[in-house]
Amino acid sequence: MGDPKGKKIQDMNCSLQGCLGQYEAKRVIHTVRHRGRVVVIDHVPADVCSICGDVLFKPETVRAIERLLGEVRQPDASVPLYEYA
Ligand SMILES: [Zn+2]
Repeated sequence: MGDPKGKKIQDMNCSLQGCLGQYEAKRVIHTVRHRGRVVVIDHVPADVCSICGDVLFKPETVRAIERLLGEVRQPDASVPLYEYA
């Protein structure tokens, strides 16, 4: 731990402490709550940890999601939503 010349720290290593996974570029389903409504966005480009499944979005992806949420438009598709209760 903390050896600066032991192994190069790669920025694609998992950010979760103790996880040895590496992020892989994937497309994920992203679910957000926006103005009280659940919004699901499919095929969002993200880096997903190969071990724990931690998901990272690039800043430009986050901006694109926010832009999408800011648009008032009909969704491309709809999904049934079930409450866990
Ligand atoms: Zn991980």
